Amino acid sequence: MDRGITRRDFLNGVALTVGAAILPSDLFSAVDIPPGPEKSPSYYPPALTGLRGSHPGSFEVAHSLRDGTFWEQAGTPVDTGEKYDLVIVGGGISGLSAAHFFRKVAEPKSRVLIIENHDDFGGHAKRNEFQSPKHTMLGFGGTFSIESPAPYSAVSKGLIEELGIDVSSYSRYVKRDLYRSFGLAPKIFLDKETFGADALAVNPIPHVGGESENDLVRSHALEAFLKEAPLSDQAKADYARLLTDKKDYLPGLSSDEKKARLARMSYNSFLADHAKVGPEVVKLLQPMPQPLFGVGFDAVSAQDAWGLGAPGFEGMNLAPGPGKGMNRDAIPNEEAEKYFFHFPDGNASIARLLVRKLIPDAIPGNSAADVVLARANYARVDQPGSPVRIRLNSTAVRVKHEGDPAGAKEVEVAYERGGKVYTVRAAHCILACWHVVIPYICEQLPDPQKVALSSAAKVPLLYTNVALRNWKAFQKLGTNAIYCPGEYHSYMNLDLPVSIGGYECSRQPEDPIVVHMMKTPCKPGRPARDQHLLGRMELFTTTFETMERNIRAQLARVAGPGGFDPANDITAITVNRWPHGYAYEYNSLWDKFWLEGGETPCEVARKPFGRIAIANADAGAYAYTDGAIDQAYRAVNEITKA
Ligand SMILES: Cc1cc2nc3c(=O)[nH]c(=O)nc-3n(C[C@H](O)[C@H](O)[C@H](O)COP(=O)(O)OP(=O)(O)OC[C@H]3O[C@@H](n4cnc5c(N)ncnc54)[C@H](O)[C@@H]3O)c2cc1C
Repeated sequence: MDRGITRRDFLNGVALTVGAAILPSDLFSAVDIPPGPEKSPSYYPPALTGLRGSHPGSFEVAHSLRDGTFWEQAGTPVDTGEKYDLVIVGGGISGLSAAHFFRKVAEPKSRVLIIENHDDFGGHAKRNEFQSPKHTMLGFGGTFSIESPAPYSAVSKGLIEELGIDVSSYSRYVKRDLYRSFGLAPKIFLDKETFGADALAVNPIPHVGGESENDLVRSHALEAFLKEAPLSDQAKADYARLLTDKKDYLPGLSSDEKKARLARMSYNSFLADHAKVGPEVVKLLQPMPQPLFGVGFDAVSAQDAWGLGAPGFEGMNLAPGPGKGMNRDAIPNEEAEKYFFHFPDGNASIARLLVRKLIPDAIPGNSAADVVLARANYARVDQPGSPVRIRLNSTAVRVKHEGDPAGAKEVEVAYERGGKVYTVRAAHCILACWHVVIPYICEQLPDPQKVALSSAAKVPLLYTNVALRNWKAFQKLGTNAIYCPGEYHSYMNLDLPVSIGGYECSRQPEDPIVVHMMKTPCKPGRPARDQHLLGRMELFTTTFETMERNIRAQLARVAGPGGFDPANDITAITVNRWPHGYAYEYNSLWDKFWLEGGETPCEVARKPFGRIAIANADAGAYAYTDGAIDQAYRAVNEITKA
């Protein structure tokens, strides 16, 4: 009775015996597959600069499948003869977690293959490296941190702990007061085209969606902003009123009735029609939620804006806690807010820790701290004889059961690599890839499921890292974080100063640093999904040269008055292009079912099918790392029960 129940027991209720099917003779492929670029000693994707994220070479095969041209050009698939207990499509945190959960319950001899179309593992959790004269600087190419609007589940927390990450130790690594000690504060860059004149003003509400400022700091910042901002007197008065008045803009309604109304109007409508602020203020606030939703306040409900801490709700007596249809459904939630950890390469460290657990040879070291500086050996990630193999630069193009899905004993997975198509077979398959891809690779799925999968088109984003020789110009301008509502990138921040595992953040303005810039290519005024579609097309059709010009021009314009010279001060640029970025989260303005209740598309999309289960953050319509982990756990449970 006193024996602790391990997570192994929880998974399926009992310890499982899966993976006995693979015979030793299956360990080796029957045909010679060319070794591929990963075996070269110089192969090291994190150090590549230029266009990363969905980089050239990673998406063309999937697009030709979508366009119906792939099989016309593909040769006859070559049977590698390889057999696995589990093939996972997608080497993001969901796919890597699925491999981990499976290996925990499967027999030690079980074998797993992960197929990933990018040249690096981690999915959105990507590492960017830059060489400075002093040392290697790190940046996050996607996933920034361990954080989530709702508390991590026991499963996700358990995995984080198993990887050796002590979230509560974060304060030991972060230099929270570094920038403040140099007198730096968050600012807004108001540009001439949008606001009448270029000006850098203090930002009185820098943390919409994050920590809130105390009242005193906020009122000093508001005073400074009103002095510095080139807004009309009317706009200044509106803005000050919005931030300080405690007015009920929907009098006579209960909290629930107000939330129901707020869920059905955009925050911009709330501002214009209820708070009665003019268009200058609306323009000022519009891009604020982009880092969370990939769209501005034209396409985010007023209820969600309240949840994010946007101004205008202080006098409305809204009961804390979620309202129906609310996106960030746990507000305020102290437990979730406290669970925060940022590695210098973001959650790429989680992906790397998972890879280390799955293939210890590939990444040296033995702690969550030492993984930060550990160099991955890509030649080791796909080794014959290894229980887990990660096959990079390979796009799964067909996943099908051998015979009737209900009674099939195997799944055949075909993938493209280096211009050829290969097949492997497995007892089970987990599709941890983007849901929109699945209907094109898994034709056997029922049509309603394909429709649900297709509806999960992701949110496009650019995460740009710019390596600088120093941050003296930022010091002169008195800022480390600039919100730029009218510029190409809406946000630009000096790196969050974290020193861990021998990695040292930049501590002096004379030292090199990475600036992180964020853009969402949204098209305000349209429904959210249309904005994402158009934005995705924009990202796929904009050249790196254009992006680079925009980045240099923006840095020159915003930081030029502090002495910034792009020609001298920029040492490298990496644009992490994510046309398929955040998982699409349901939005009460555009997704009626989200208010009405009933089965959601992601529940239909993730139904298991024969020997195939479906993971990825899309399966929970939740754009956070814990979502990716939880969905992996569910998918593993499903196949091990089958
Ligand atoms: C820019 C950005 C910033 C984020 N920041 C945060 C954050 O700070 N905190 C947080 O908790 N969450 C954050 N998220 C969300 C978080 O990154 C994701 O929820 C999580 O990493 C998703 O993992 P995944 O494995 O489900 O999907 P992905 O990371 O997308 O991995 C899926 C992989 O499958 C691959 N794939 C697709 N099709 C195929 C195919 N046919 N064959 C082979 N491979 C295929 C894809 O290329 C991809 O590599 C962020 C997301 C983005 C895009």
